[in-house]
Amino acid sequence: MTTKLITKTLIKSCIDCLRRLYLELNSPELKVQGEDSFMSHLVSEGYKFEDIVRSLFPSAKTQKTFSNNSVLARTDILTDEELIEVKSSTSIREDDILDISIQAQLLRELDKDPGKYKLAFVNNDYTLATTLNPKKLIKAEDVTDRVNEALPEVAVLFEKARKTAAAKRSPKKEIGRHCLSCPFINSCSPDLLDYSIFNLRRGGKKIDELLEAGIYYLKDIPPFTKLSAYQQLQVEAERTGDDIVDKKKIIAALKTLRYPIWYLDFEAAPILIPRYKGCSPYEQITFQVSVHIQESPEAELKHIEFLHDKDSDPRYDLALFLNKNIGEQGSVVVYHASYEKGRLQELAKKYPKFAYKMESIIDRLWDLETIFTKGYYLSSKFGGSTSIKKVLPVMVPKLSYKDLNISNGADAFISYLQMIDDKTTSRKKREIYDSLLQYCGMDTYAMYAIVEALREVCHD
Ligand code: SF4
Repeated sequence: MTTKLITKTLIKSCIDCLRRLYLELNSPELKVQGEDSFMSHLVSEGYKFEDIVRSLFPSAKTQKTFSNNSVLARTDILTDEELIEVKSSTSIREDDILDISIQAQLLRELDKDPGKYKLAFVNNDYTLATTLNPKKLIKAEDVTDRVNEALPEVAVLFEKARKTAAAKRSPKKEIGRHCLSCPFINSCSPDLLDYSIFNLRRGGKKIDELLEAGIYYLKDIPPFTKLSAYQQLQVEAERTGDDIVDKKKIIAALKTLRYPIWYLDFEAAPILIPRYKGCSPYEQITFQVSVHIQESPEAELKHIEFLHDKDSDPRYDLALFLNKNIGEQGSVVVYHASYEKGRLQELAKKYPKFAYKMESIIDRLWDLETIFTKGYYLSSKFGGSTSIKKVLPVMVPKLSYKDLNISNGADAFISYLQMIDDKTTSRKKREIYDSLLQYCGMDTYAMYAIVEALREVCHD
């Protein structure tokens, strides 16, 4: 019988697959865990928030680990009256109830259960005045009833986990979408990584149904299966091996572009603990913009950019930059318009004197992604995604994000936060500054290159 303890994460994994827990306890060396800088950032932001919440309970037991020789869990805040779990989200999710219920179940088994449970989470209505007010930064909600309701099911999970931990043989595979985030996929079910069924856009439960029916490839999906219009095009592209190109619709869309064309992209950091006066938790602090400008079909492409490099609110200077440099005429091409629209609306609200220009830009937004989300152009190489990172290498093979030091939005804002940190050396700051310019510049150049590639495809 194994003597290894079962953690909260492992208990939760038993909902989808018991084999994962067995492998974790008996063959941890088979685990392959990819690095996810965004997740690490969220975790470290979460720790900072937890520290702030814990400071409000100086006499409570904090971060205490409990174990009953089979299960192990760490409680955030425990007093004689209540158990408080800290979450860095802005609302309560089912998963948070499960987390605190697992702790409650363990305390119950140890006869240390206070019987009252609360979740403390982020109050996103809070606005920083001058100094941080921890009491106002958090919201707390009594979830005792929800925990009591969940406890019988959690007790069953504990039982399943204990039996699996004591088992002599590995339980059978329980294949599903959860496998894609399982660290044992490479040793347990490497075939799954090739199954194109996981590429079904917004596949959700449909993927589970198809897996259950033993269908692993898009091309094998039987005719008359209920699919969305986009999913049907995906199946067609897989079967024929050809890209789907609706030239008529692409030409009609491109005809709505007006010169001068402004290819625009923002980078922003959603910072949990408000850093500047007037900021709220997770408010997007827009710190960078890149704009490629095409004044006429024959004109040379121009580039302008803004990147803040100090630990202060970058948004006034950024709004000023847009106000001065973006003209009153022409389409503003973006990729995934809701993001840029959101940032522009925030700037308009925060700085009314720039509102007219921000609204003028919003009115002229032209979302390049819709060519792909509407399936006017669809390649099986997109893998069901329409992100620019997937589309660019197919449309413009000579361009790629691969060789850049920063290659996605999450890395961009994490690097930005490192750049404005006092502790970062000036050499490193300069390096990050250059990498950020390269990355954001690539985003807008990529949009220009994709539009040009679409024009070429349609005029073949
Ligand atoms: S890959 Fe899937 S079946 Fe295998 S252990 Fe992980 S979750 Fe279970």
